[in-house]
Formats: sequence, C-alpha cells, structure tokens
Amino acid sequence: MSDEVLSIEDLHKIYPGGVHAVKGISFNINEGESVAIIGSSGSGKSTVLRCINRLIEPTEGIIKLKGDRINTPVVDINEIRSRIGMVFQSFELFAHLKVLQNITLGLIHVRGMSKEDAESLALKVLERVDMLDRKDAYPGNLSGGQKQRVAIARALAMKPEILLFDEPTSALDPELIGSVLENIRSLADEGMTMIIVTHEIGFARDVADRIIYMDQGIIEEVGGPEIIENPTSERMKKFLSTWD
Ligand code: ADP
Ligand code: MG
Repeated sequence: MSDEVLSIEDLHKIYPGGVHAVKGISFNINEGESVAIIGSSGSGKSTVLRCINRLIEPTEGIIKLKGDRINTPVVDINEIRSRIGMVFQSFELFAHLKVLQNITLGLIHVRGMSKEDAESLALKVLERVDMLDRKDAYPGNLSGGQKQRVAIARALAMKPEILLFDEPTSALDPELIGSVLENIRSLADEGMTMIIVTHEIGFARDVADRIIYMDQGIIEEVGGPEIIENPTSERMKKFLSTWD
C-alpha cells in the first residue's frame, strides 16, 4: 500500500446532456509503474485522465493521490494539478513566450521559485528532452515533435508525483513521433510513474508495465504487456486486429 501513488475506485462520468462516458472504473498505480490505456476513440480514455487532474468533475467515485482524496470540493485544485503533470495531444504551450519562459512560468508562479532557480531547473529539464539549444525559440518556430518535448519538459520541471499523457503523438507527423516516444520511454525507464493514453500499440507493449483496454466506458481487459499478443476478450481482439 505504501508505494501506491494513485487509486481510482468506481469512477463514473456522466456529461451534462447525458453521455455516460465512464461507467465504473477502478485501478491503482504504484510508484514507478507505467500504465498504458488503449481503446477506440470515444471509449472514455481522455475522460478518465481529465477526472484525475480535475479538468472535469467525476459524477461518482473516489480518486486518491498518495492516499489523499482529491475529488472533493475542499481540495485546492491548483495544488492537485501541481502534483499531477499532464501532457496533451495539442501541446498547450504559450505562443507568446519563449521555450524557457514556458517552463519557468509555473515554477515561479505556482512553485514560488526565484527566477534564477526556475531558469536553472528549466535548463536541466530541457537538456533531458534534448531541447536545450532551442531554449530561446518561440513555439511557433518549432516542429510538433519539438513542441511536445518542451511540453514534457514543462511537466517534468514541476516534479509531479505522476505524469499523464493523453495521446502525446497523435498530432505529430509520422517522422516526428519517434523522438517523443523515446523521451517518454526514458522517463519510464528512470522510474517516473505515468499513465499513457496512446494509439501506439507497439510502444505501449514495449514500455508499459500494465495495459488497460477500455471499451465503452469500462475496463474490458487489463494485464501485463503480453495481453497485446494474447487478448482474451473478443472486443480487444477485434480492436487489435485493426492495428496490425
Ligand atoms: P476517448 O478519449 O477514449 O476518445 P472521451 O473520453 O474523449 O473518449 O469520450 C468518451 C465519450 O464522452 C464520447 O462519447 C464523447 O463523445 C463523450 N464526451 C467527451 N467529452 C464530452 C463533453 N465535454 N461533453 C459531452 N460529451 C463528451
Ligand atoms: Mg481521447
């Protein structure tokens, strides 16, 4: 129990308008574990991630981060978000800020670091994603892959307890996907606790300790990476057959 980072119990999300996107999902993530969530579009993967970092409110269920319940009205959402890093498909960088300032902004305003300390940490995380030489560039002058590596560096700089990736390579041209996946793979190898929602099934199999297959708002199948080769549920078999 002591090394449990995240626990989700019977999570439901019904959107205003009535779509029951997540229908009772439970799972735990331990320190250093990387878990991949796969499944067709509309199966509720993004909804689960958005509930975890409180971009949306779950309709029902309990989410705990290191034992603290985080989906209650009394918790400070900014504090929760500073403990949970999120990397989106669409990067979400500030276009009017240089790469370095995109990273120092949260460190200065959320973490209360001095400008000097924030810059020195920012340089370190940029080096980790091999983007140090572009620290003075504006996002508009970077490739999609480079933007995503900056977004990863920004999340890392906050020293999150867990990192959530929502289809981090879906918006990238095929030739740019590899470098981003390499960065994520080395973070996993270094023991970062993470959830990766991805369509890159081969990557999920190689990097994740556990695979969760979601279908229509539920976990249809969960197991080690070997379930990619040997799925038991008919739905997962069908899903995987479209990716060969
Ligand atoms: P995935 O990430 O697996 O593609 P999503 O979590 O984005 O799936 O969506 C799950 C379901 O919830 C889909 O039917 C989608 O149309 C619906 N949905 C997602 N976001 C909203 C929203 N803001 N309002 C209403 N329905 C939504
Ligand atoms: Mg999604």
